Amino acid sequence: MTLLYFAVLALSFLAFFWICDIGFRRSIETTVNNASQTNLDTIRRLLEKPENKGQEKVRQELEELSNLWANGALLEVADVQGNWTFRSPQFALAQPPIPNLEGAERVFFTTNLDLSQYRIAMQRIQVGTEMFEVHAAVPTEPFDQALDHFRLIEKECLPLLVLLASLLGYWLSGRSLASVNRIIKTAELIGVQNLSRRLEVPRAKDELRRLTLTLNAMLDRIETSFKRITQFTADASHDLRTPVAVIRTSAELALRRERSEVEYRDALNKILTTSVETSELLENLLSLARADAGALGIELHPLELGEHVRKVQERAVILSADKALDIRLDTPPTPVWVKADAIALDRLLLILVDNAIKYTPSGGHCEIALSQGKGNAQITVSDSGIGIAKEDVQHIFDRFYRADRARSRNRRGAGLGLAIARWITDIHGGNIAVESAPGAGSIFTVSLPVQES
Ligand code: ADP
Repeated sequence: MTLLYFAVLALSFLAFFWICDIGFRRSIETTVNNASQTNLDTIRRLLEKPENKGQEKVRQELEELSNLWANGALLEVADVQGNWTFRSPQFALAQPPIPNLEGAERVFFTTNLDLSQYRIAMQRIQVGTEMFEVHAAVPTEPFDQALDHFRLIEKECLPLLVLLASLLGYWLSGRSLASVNRIIKTAELIGVQNLSRRLEVPRAKDELRRLTLTLNAMLDRIETSFKRITQFTADASHDLRTPVAVIRTSAELALRRERSEVEYRDALNKILTTSVETSELLENLLSLARADAGALGIELHPLELGEHVRKVQERAVILSADKALDIRLDTPPTPVWVKADAIALDRLLLILVDNAIKYTPSGGHCEIALSQGKGNAQITVSDSGIGIAKEDVQHIFDRFYRADRARSRNRRGAGLGLAIARWITDIHGGNIAVESAPGAGSIFTVSLPVQES
């Protein structure tokens, strides 16, 4: 950046000095031309004076005038025949080649007279019937010296200016990069151990501030995900430890001494039941891990919801057989089409129905209803069960959350069912909601966008 800055500066200064040089030369030219013009005008006034009559008188006056010019200006005047009325000695000596006026009123040119350079103005002046050709020369040396002096200053100042400006640029870029360095240093310190640390936000409202704010927001998201994963791992290990301990203790106890066949059967039954629950838990954990990794293995196809709801109701009847629950079904006469993954959809409905059965005491009832609204299909699973307290409602869709652990303790489950249910509705572009009060039962409503035919 500094190199580029250096190059741009050098070029800009060069261009600037070049323009100044041109301007200076132009203004010198104008000044010299004006000086010559003034001299021509003085000569014209002299020639036009009525008392200046006769060649000798004119010559004397011109000589006097020439002596009066202190700045080294020269002059020569000739009549129409080319006879010199007056000639400054330098003009006479140098005999410069004089260009032809060719009808032009006035001509300027530069030439050497007596080793020095002069700017010469030529003009024809008519006085009465007489015509004079007048040449007035002004030395350009003082102007050339001024130009040389200016160029010398240019040569000395240009590298110095470029160097100074580059050093300033280097210092400024260093200053502006200092905050980037601070961000880098803090970012290097952030790791798993101190994920809550954030980058220092610069005060200036610039891109760096936006960058740090964006990075901090990204760190917030990473920290939340990381906490979720850590919590998930901790909860999963905790929930897996209990059934594994039950299986192990049951087996150890059974093997400690000789037992009757009934006792062995009991132990094996306990081991089997716990293993089935553990497989279910593992299956759920795996589903959520897959959900976190993206909706892998989910394919949405058009399907008719009524058919699925009926199938789930039939399974609910079997599942609730030992509780004598009344499992009702309410489906519309017309088919309701949605785009869904059949396996995932069945799983979602089973989770809701399974919960309704689990949390409804014997003799209660449960209803699975399907309806179609504007652009949405609605499946409601309601029960007359124990209900959910207000403070728990907002958490029941969280992983591992079980409302009122004391009540849930003797009911199987690890608090993953509703988290999976919500994930499934999400990937179908739908949503899930609950209405419940303790003792008044619960109503779970799943809305899915209908398939437009
Ligand atoms: P669990 O495996 O504990 O059933 P879920 O994620 O399916 O896990 O449900 C989370 C919690 O929500 C349950 O522990 C329970 O307290 C509450 N819950 C879910 N469904 C019902 C319901 N139909 N009636 C009462 N409480 C329910």
